[in-house]
Amino acid sequence: MLQFDRVSLNDESQVLRQQVRDFIAENKAHLPRPNSDFVTGHDAEFSQKLGEQGWIGMTWPEAYGGSDKSNFERLVVTEELLAAGAPVSAHWIADRQSGPVLLRFGTEAQRQKYLPEIARGESYFSIGMSEPDTGSDLASVRTTATAEGDAYRINGTKIWTTDAHRNHYIICLVRTEAPSENRHAGFSQIIVDLKNDGAKVRPIRNMAGGEDFNEVVFDNVLVPKDRIVGEAGNGWQQVTSELAYERSGPERFLSSFRVFVELVRVCGDSPTPHQAAAIGRIASHFMTLRRMSLSVAGMLESGKDVSVEAALVKELGNNFEKVLPEIARLVVPDLSAVDPAKQRLFRETFEETLMLSPSFTLRGGTREIMRGVIARGLGLR
Ligand SMILES: Cc1cc2nc3c(=O)[nH]c(=O)nc-3n(C[C@H](O)[C@H](O)[C@H](O)COP(=O)(O)OP(=O)(O)OC[C@H]3O[C@@H](n4cnc5c(N)ncnc54)[C@H](O)[C@@H]3O)c2cc1C
Repeated sequence: MLQFDRVSLNDESQVLRQQVRDFIAENKAHLPRPNSDFVTGHDAEFSQKLGEQGWIGMTWPEAYGGSDKSNFERLVVTEELLAAGAPVSAHWIADRQSGPVLLRFGTEAQRQKYLPEIARGESYFSIGMSEPDTGSDLASVRTTATAEGDAYRINGTKIWTTDAHRNHYIICLVRTEAPSENRHAGFSQIIVDLKNDGAKVRPIRNMAGGEDFNEVVFDNVLVPKDRIVGEAGNGWQQVTSELAYERSGPERFLSSFRVFVELVRVCGDSPTPHQAAAIGRIASHFMTLRRMSLSVAGMLESGKDVSVEAALVKELGNNFEKVLPEIARLVVPDLSAVDPAKQRLFRETFEETLMLSPSFTLRGGTREIMRGVIARGLGLR
């Protein structure tokens, strides 16, 4: 059954929101081309500054470099950074996903080694799930890690791996045992050092001209045995719980937010009725999605299973962020009559977001897969 608890942010969160806004205003030099898509800005210096504020690994225990804060506080920081179009890509996956996986399933030695450097904004991770013949059906992953003395020998190819050419580590889903009748058995997660272990990383150019994702080839790559995350053979359970972190955040509906901001600016103080209706409609969608996302954060905070609700936020949110540039295109005024600075900001964010938008409903699980998860959660299949 679907359940969205009524949740409101407390006063401390509002204070934090202002602190994040002040921080962004002081660091404007890091936002030369603001873009709300979380993969578009890889800026190590900015990530380290966020680390100094305690805004990476916020919910983790202080013993591992975290700040022991709530999911609400993390949500406030996340939505302010995305809404401003700040460059968050460097630490994004480590903060959202890899760190929580290591915290929950990793060995004590792994937690002590990796979490503090992630929280300082110095160590960046990629996700190695998809392969050339495996995306939605993750259980068909074919990359192998074969035990050999004190090491694992890895062979196979991962693809669409966001920021592998810039990041330090990748956590790969691999087969450590031969396939059996149980499709979900025999998987493990393993950490590979992208700078030092010998994996070959080849960037793939996207439609917007950027090189954000990659093919990563493992040709007899040897890594020490202690790189298995937690226990060998537990990979399927770990990877499916990781997907809940990947699907529930405001990055699943805010990717086009800057287009909205710049649209409002170029429409000016006296929008036409057509423009006003479009702006009002977009704003009401944002408000609804935001309340749903906040509710998911609240339910996560109280330890509830939110996988179906998170899938619903992602499905509705991705659809909306994908269609937003199309709505903007229909109502945008004649830009030649608009102030040149406003015109440039609108053009830059609009053109880049429009070209990136087809990927919004693919990454992190496609629409069809999300709809399947929701249907199963509602007992419809
Ligand atoms: C920008 C971007 C960044 C990405 N970053 C990463 C990353 O960092 N790490 C990583 O591991 N992966 C990453 N991915 C890969 C992404 O997770 C996959 O593209 C996605 O899961 C879909 O897999 P696929 O491309 O193999 O398509 P397929 O699984 O082959 O699907 C093709 C089509 O068939 C549909 N389909 C498949 N199965 C079903 C089904 N059972 N029922 C109904 N319809 C179905 C799909 O919805 C889709 O429309 C990224 C992708 C993009 C676009």
